Amino acid sequence: MSAADPSLSIANPHPHKTDAIQKAGLALAGLGLLTLFLAWGNVPLPKTLSLAFALGGIIFGTTLYSWRLYMKQPEGVKNNGVMFKSLTSRGVLGWVAGVVLTAFYVLIYWYPEYLGYKPGGANEGFVALFDPLSRFFKGKPASQWFLYGTLYTVSILALGIKFLFKYRHNAYQIKRTLVVIAAQLFLAYLIPEILAGLNYNDATNPQGEYLGYYDTDIKNTWPLDYDFFYDWHLDAMQQKAYQPVGMLYLVIGIAMFLVFTPVFTYFFGKRWYCSWVCGCGGLAETAGDPFRHLSSKKLSAWKLERWLIHGVMIFVFVMTAATLYGYFWNTGEVFGLNIYNNFQKPYGFLIGATFSGVIGVGFYPMLGSRVWCRFGCPMAGYMGIIQRFKSRFRITTNGGQCISCGNCSTYCEQGIDVRWYAQRGQNIVRASCVGCGICSAVCPRGVLKLENGPDEKRMDAPAIIVGNDSVSLNQ
Ligand code: SF4
Ligand code: SF4
Repeated sequence: MSAADPSLSIANPHPHKTDAIQKAGLALAGLGLLTLFLAWGNVPLPKTLSLAFALGGIIFGTTLYSWRLYMKQPEGVKNNGVMFKSLTSRGVLGWVAGVVLTAFYVLIYWYPEYLGYKPGGANEGFVALFDPLSRFFKGKPASQWFLYGTLYTVSILALGIKFLFKYRHNAYQIKRTLVVIAAQLFLAYLIPEILAGLNYNDATNPQGEYLGYYDTDIKNTWPLDYDFFYDWHLDAMQQKAYQPVGMLYLVIGIAMFLVFTPVFTYFFGKRWYCSWVCGCGGLAETAGDPFRHLSSKKLSAWKLERWLIHGVMIFVFVMTAATLYGYFWNTGEVFGLNIYNNFQKPYGFLIGATFSGVIGVGFYPMLGSRVWCRFGCPMAGYMGIIQRFKSRFRITTNGGQCISCGNCSTYCEQGIDVRWYAQRGQNIVRASCVGCGICSAVCPRGVLKLENGPDEKRMDAPAIIVGNDSVSLNQ
């Protein structure tokens, strides 16, 4: 810090006071949010103008604020005050944010009518505000999912730019974040929406919603995209009117799971997907960045993680096997069990909605940003097995340089006790590591390096069987 910088201490956790430019940025973003709430309350506003103002205000306001916040400080790790701020230390603001996010997910999944979604009629409130943009892309009024996809993309864009300012000293973080933003903006949002507009059709899913199978996140592969093999989806991709693109989607979807995923994971570890491409990871790495230290580092959490993530993985495999059996044998039952009621419905409710959405994002301020990726995602579970046993990826540690500060463990969003390995100079080969590289970015001694290399000697001997809780165990 320069002499002009006020010093950071427990007594003074916010040494950098918010200046006029930052306040202007916050005000702009706040006005954008206020516009969304006014629209939700059915205050009569010109829709197109209000939507442009709301989304533009959020993006430009956040950018202005974060540009000023980080660029007036020297380059380097910027987690000042994160343990003291109410929002990021499970204080009142953290709880408020958690409750608001959770409530929003509950409305999106189960009560979209309270957001103003009126299938078959004229939308109102929040959803109606997004009608002009939806009509622009595909000539149809918005659904709650269009609203959600737009806000999701705006969040990754606005908070991704904030992340870029914060980690501007780190080339890996800059490249990774630019790719994550581009993947969400183009592959998950713009391209599917534009294709949906070009290929408008009347196919609907069992809930009566416009199907538009192009209107799906292109990179969202099975088993993360758990309904890929559902009857209505398989039928849609084979419809005559959609050929040859429909079959192409089907073939690419299957190849993603069987070929591309294992091959890429072998060469690069699961980071190629979890931290560079995936939408869940994209939100966690941008919007979730201020909460990454909240992940539990306890050994018990690691044990729970292994049970849960592999349990969900088995669940999705069994559910999909039952679904395919029903599809090819043209029956709604397997071993006397109704496939929809006993497999698809519980998976969709428990895992697809509650775990990945409501808990996965709603609990960011309580449990950290990767609850879903760490404990639930079957795609992460599948890639984790490959990463652990057959991959070139590892984090190497230069143990002699480690000063045991614990920054790496603190900011590992996957709850890995990185310091335990660093102190011993052992390679880190863990199924759950998403290769975000933050442990390396926050290390003051350059101890940690994310590498892809030969398989031999990747695992240290003796095998690592204790990771978390180890410091207290060995003292
Ligand atoms: S060990 Fe490092 S790279 Fe892996 S998830 Fe944790 S912080 Fe990210
Ligand atoms: S951040 Fe670096 S120096 Fe600190 S404990 Fe981790 S590896 Fe060691």
